[in-house]
Amino acid sequence: MRTTYLKIYQDALRHNLRAIRALVPKQTETVAVVKANAYGYGAVLVAGMAMEEGYEALAVAVTGEARQLRDAGFKCPIYLLGLLMPDEYEDAFETDSIIPICESTNLKLLDETAARFGKTASVMVAVDSGMNRIGVQAEDVPAFLEAIKKYTNITVHGFFTHYACADGESHEHVKHQMHRFESMVRRIPNPERYIFTAANSSTTLYFPESYYDAVRPGQIIYGYMPEGHPETQERAEKLPKFESALGLFSRVVHIHKVKAGDTVGYGATYKCSEDMWIGTVPIGYADGYPRCLSNRGEVLIGGRRYKVAGRVCMDQIMIELGYETDIKVGDEVVLIGKQGNDEITVSDIARLADTHPDEISCQLTQRIPRIYCNKY
Ligand SMILES: *Cc1c(COP(=O)(O)O)cnc(C)c1O
Repeated sequence: MRTTYLKIYQDALRHNLRAIRALVPKQTETVAVVKANAYGYGAVLVAGMAMEEGYEALAVAVTGEARQLRDAGFKCPIYLLGLLMPDEYEDAFETDSIIPICESTNLKLLDETAARFGKTASVMVAVDSGMNRIGVQAEDVPAFLEAIKKYTNITVHGFFTHYACADGESHEHVKHQMHRFESMVRRIPNPERYIFTAANSSTTLYFPESYYDAVRPGQIIYGYMPEGHPETQERAEKLPKFESALGLFSRVVHIHKVKAGDTVGYGATYKCSEDMWIGTVPIGYADGYPRCLSNRGEVLIGGRRYKVAGRVCMDQIMIELGYETDIKVGDEVVLIGKQGNDEITVSDIARLADTHPDEISCQLTQRIPRIYCNKY
């Protein structure tokens, strides 16, 4: 067992899944987004819990992720969220995935591949309502729908869009996207035949008017709370609390006194102004501890906060322990989680690294052993 390890808190994940299921009305389907190995938490684990908590479907980004879930025995609908290139079409049929399409999709080849597999391609039309990532422009969707009709092996399962600013960035932008999507929905003949879905985590929290038939939460399952808007303040007060579901632990493997004027680490970016105790911890950017936390990151040792001294190395970091210290080799280091009365969350790390918490947990590499346990 490695000195550095992750704890994934199953009870916290379950609490979050349950809180989301309880937040949305019964008739609204919940699709658990488990792409990127469930944001680093473990796709098979989270998918299994989602099923137990009454979720109707799963969503992943790429066909390899769908295959992992099928191999693990999941029979529920699996949505792919990213567009496929033609050489991935077969994988989509082999994994019985629901395929996103837009005008960049080779519909003729998709239709032929479906026929070859003796299947119908179940597709979701990606609708671009203002994110400008993938999808048919919302106004062009009815014509696109008309044009697909000639492909007899393609069945439209529904329509999905994705919001760019639902997490506090721009209320106006959300309203604009919502309006474009809603106008499109009104122009679809026999809408009761289709599934419409628009809401990611922040939309699920703050914009219930955008639920349609299914919501697609990701980050809130993992305990990351997207920011609300001043306009959604009233709603924010009624929302459930989500639990952080990850702890990242290590130990001090070495301590030594560095003389005034000496430097620590690559590039000699940290200089000791006085004689200084420095501790070394075996985690680095090869584990996913961001290199941009050089001279910025913080860790907990003995319930107190200490700073990363110098550059984050591939496999190790050094910590500034002060002029005097009672810290010893072997002491526990908390990189994410609680120690004493203090806590460092994934969101705290993300803020220091100027990124989103999703990126932090996604990039924690398989070199770190995972321990699945309960928090309470
Ligand atoms: C990743 C993703 C989601 C989930 O987003 P969160 O912000 O993590 O809830 C939903 N829909 C699509 C299309 C996505 O790509």
